[in-house]
Amino acid sequence: MHAPSDHPNEHERQASLDDLEILDTPADPYMDSLVRVARDIFKVERVLISLIDRDRQWFKARAGAEFSCTPRDISFCGHAILDEHRTFIVPDALEDDRFADNPLVTGAPFIRFYAGHPLIASAGLPIGTLCLLHSQPRVLNEQEEGRLRDLAQLVEGYIKLRSLSEHTRQLREAVSREQRKALLDPLTQLWNRAALEHFYPGEVSTAKLHNEHIGVLFIDLDHFKNINDTYGHATGDQVLVEAAHRIATSLRPHDLLFRFGGEEFVVVSRIGSVNQLGSIAERIRATIANKEIVTLRGHLSIKASIGGAEGGPEDTIESLLHKADNALYRAKNNGRNTVCLEHSEAWENS
Ligand code: GH3
Ligand code: MG
Ligand code: MG
Repeated sequence: MHAPSDHPNEHERQASLDDLEILDTPADPYMDSLVRVARDIFKVERVLISLIDRDRQWFKARAGAEFSCTPRDISFCGHAILDEHRTFIVPDALEDDRFADNPLVTGAPFIRFYAGHPLIASAGLPIGTLCLLHSQPRVLNEQEEGRLRDLAQLVEGYIKLRSLSEHTRQLREAVSREQRKALLDPLTQLWNRAALEHFYPGEVSTAKLHNEHIGVLFIDLDHFKNINDTYGHATGDQVLVEAAHRIATSLRPHDLLFRFGGEEFVVVSRIGSVNQLGSIAERIRATIANKEIVTLRGHLSIKASIGGAEGGPEDTIESLLHKADNALYRAKNNGRNTVCLEHSEAWENS
């Protein structure tokens, strides 16, 4: 096996990746959508947006893959970034000396076909790839290669725009990269429960500054245990990832989404009125329920119950979650697949 060598400008390359503040950030529903579309277009098992960090490749978006990173020295993408001008294609890894005994080829996910197009950051240096993986040998025709290049260009553009956004600036100020690693849920790549406590005070301050209120939604998937019991834990995991994606696409850019635990999610939202919170909740409920989820075990339908509460001046994150949880309890008792809101007294700006 040949481990990929460093890029000739490795130091600058790593610096331009670090500058983007994109490593160890939560899943982005738009990049997730892009890799799903790519998987359908190319009819491959897995599509990744892979970022080449010092000693690992970390996946900003994954379709069909459960792992969030792999070591750089066994990565295909580490090779792909060495020529930033062309797509790196391995039609059959078993026929290629560089990869035939690679553990990703001889073991799961049993890669035979790989095609990765380099993603170039503003400084002109490659930070990772948009890549296709399949467990059967394959080739790409000229038209397919063109499509992969076009999609890679969309990813590059999106990453550049993202780095200019207000959200990235706030993230940079609020939490360092090392802290971020501990605040992410590996399965869904959402912020975890510890992150909720970490970010909540900042959201309260920002809400006060803008004369807004804080709203919290507690989202619990209905009868989720049945999915595990009937289809197995792996399908349960796939449903959780899809539910996270659907919730994320229902939110506004500055709403924060957390995996609270198990099949429970929490949204923290700056709102003008409780009606606004209700309409966000309703959008989430409908997006989860409206379409079946396609899994390896067939098409499944899921529903969620949602409880919402608006924060008052005395509320802590614990008391606000408690109110939202009470509302969720009512939603469960009202037949599930329902939104209930708990009203609180008006927020007094102090
Ligand atoms: P209800 O409608 O009342 O909410 O019922 P429920 O079945 O959704 O809720 P319950 O709390 O009884 O079950 C939640 C299940 O979620 C139990 C647990 O095994 C499962 N679970 C928790 N975390 C994970 C996970 O990471 N992956 C999978 N596949 N299952 C999980
Ligand atoms: Mg639950
Ligand atoms: Mg549940």
